[in-house]
Amino acid sequence: MDKKATDITCAKYPINLRRVRKNKKIRDLFSSTFIPTSALIQPYFVYEGLDHPEELKSIAGQKKHNIKSVIKEIEFALTKNISSFLLFIIPEKKIISINVNDFNFDFDCEVISKIKNIFKDEIILFTDVCLCSHTANGHCEVNANNDLTIDILTKKAVLHASAGTDVVSPSDMMDGRIKSIRIALNQNSMNDRLIMSYSSKFSSNFYGPFRAAAESTPAFGDRKSYQLDPRNIGDAIRSSMRDIDDGADILMVKPAAQYLDIIYRIKNHNNKSKDFPLAAYQVSGEYQALHLMAAANLLKFEDAYIESLISIKRAGADLIITYGATRYQEHL
Ligand SMILES: [Zn+2]
Repeated sequence: MDKKATDITCAKYPINLRRVRKNKKIRDLFSSTFIPTSALIQPYFVYEGLDHPEELKSIAGQKKHNIKSVIKEIEFALTKNISSFLLFIIPEKKIISINVNDFNFDFDCEVISKIKNIFKDEIILFTDVCLCSHTANGHCEVNANNDLTIDILTKKAVLHASAGTDVVSPSDMMDGRIKSIRIALNQNSMNDRLIMSYSSKFSSNFYGPFRAAAESTPAFGDRKSYQLDPRNIGDAIRSSMRDIDDGADILMVKPAAQYLDIIYRIKNHNNKSKDFPLAAYQVSGEYQALHLMAAANLLKFEDAYIESLISIKRAGADLIITYGATRYQEHL
């Protein structure tokens, strides 16, 4: 005789992993990835010769600032518990030159000293140290000369630190610049200033919106001879380990989402890298892609944004540079 379906007692699989997903309280109880606001760094773009702040069309929610408006923005960010800022300072005049002395960083220093005089130790000021916003051809390297470029970058880093920068942040990818900057800072009695090295900055397609903002699109060629090849894992590890030895205080992987494996590998490479502070830069292309998908009703920005930050944190980043830092708490 056939057995009725209602008479059958099914064997229950003894381990029910869904117990930990049952409701929000239980899910929160078992969550193991947390991002405090102190781990987030908000980038700002500050322009010379700008009368009024303007919307930055290439990166949603971001502005072209002048000194006055970036100060207001920092005041706002502090009310959202964000106190770390990475400044990209863009001069009006572009330089066609091969001499160290032709590069002056007066506007950079004006911006930095005005901000630090107001906020002092209430904020941590990171400032970008590169030359692509200064050079007429938009390249980070001057005259295709690594060592000449290091001399100019070192000068810029020391001037930034003298003006009040807490963390100089060389993003250029010249070989050997961390050691040069560390020695120069120490020789100029600023061995208390930190260096965040863009130690694993890949030659990526996801920088487009940023380059439009920072006026740093190369007029010719590309940056493949100084930025890392996306296929070369070993170069990322070696660059990171070398920069630890050369005096960096924070390493970085950039971009973040496409390089989560690199974040994980560096964090787990050896005891030295395991304990070393690692930042990840959620770059303009990653961030803008979420906005574009949200605008097309393909996802909800707030939720996707939080998920993107969690994945970066889970991979092993201690710090995250993200354009949405000041909105993080309200998106949670
Ligand atoms: Zn650059």
